[in-house]
Amino acid sequence: MPTATPTTPTGWDTVTLTVHDRPLTLPAEPAAPGLALVPSVTDTGWSGGYTVVHTTSGKHIGPYSLPLAYARELAHLLGSGGDWTQPADRVRADATLRRHAVETLCDLGEARDLGLPLWWARPSWRRVAPPWLIDSPTPSTGDGPWIADTWTHVVRFADQAARDGWTPVPDDAVVRRAEHPEWELVCAAPGCGRGRGTTPGNPDRPPAVLTDWDDEIGDDRPLHHTTRAELVTHARTEQWREHTNPHEGQHWLCPPCADDHPRDHD
Ligand SMILES: [Zn+2]
Repeated sequence: MPTATPTTPTGWDTVTLTVHDRPLTLPAEPAAPGLALVPSVTDTGWSGGYTVVHTTSGKHIGPYSLPLAYARELAHLLGSGGDWTQPADRVRADATLRRHAVETLCDLGEARDLGLPLWWARPSWRRVAPPWLIDSPTPSTGDGPWIADTWTHVVRFADQAARDGWTPVPDDAVVRRAEHPEWELVCAAPGCGRGRGTTPGNPDRPPAVLTDWDDEIGDDRPLHHTTRAELVTHARTEQWREHTNPHEGQHWLCPPCADDHPRDHD
């Protein structure tokens, strides 16, 4: 199983298929060398789904109409098994490639039954360093500590408090590190790019992280907790979908990725 996330495709191509004995040229998303995704066309028009096609022959591979996320995963996984840039008769004669395609299509059937991606891109449980706590030395204020995930945030918070006079931090506040590392919950779908921000050198957005809906400053700050149970309750409320496999551990899908992977059977 690949662990790489399919990269966001850039640009469009066209592929000519034969539909009802007539050639039909469709816009195609390049998915892997020799493979592309095209809209699935039926008698009445677009089915709403996508299909993986062998670009040099225009032949489709696997189910004729797939949700987009599954079509991308299928193309990525097929592409990892050999050289699809060969003509169709060479592909058919390539026993390794044929076996890989059959196994991948079996995996696809099982994954769709359960509403799972074709592989997990990452573990969902991620350890994060203990936060910084900014405490008033006079506990009577009743506000509890302010929490900052990084030292940069501490400095920004202190700067803001010094500037605006609105942030109720006394001059003799104490900054300390919490004692225990915490957990956060990350979407494990391969195509998930629904997190915030990007990292230098990588234009793809990061995967979604479970956030704190009632953060007091209205920011969708990642929700961190020392115990997983707290996050599990929150994730279920927020319609994240979990899957536990004794061999692969526990994985979660964020709500849009859960929608992108509908279950074929309950
Ligand atoms: Zn996701």
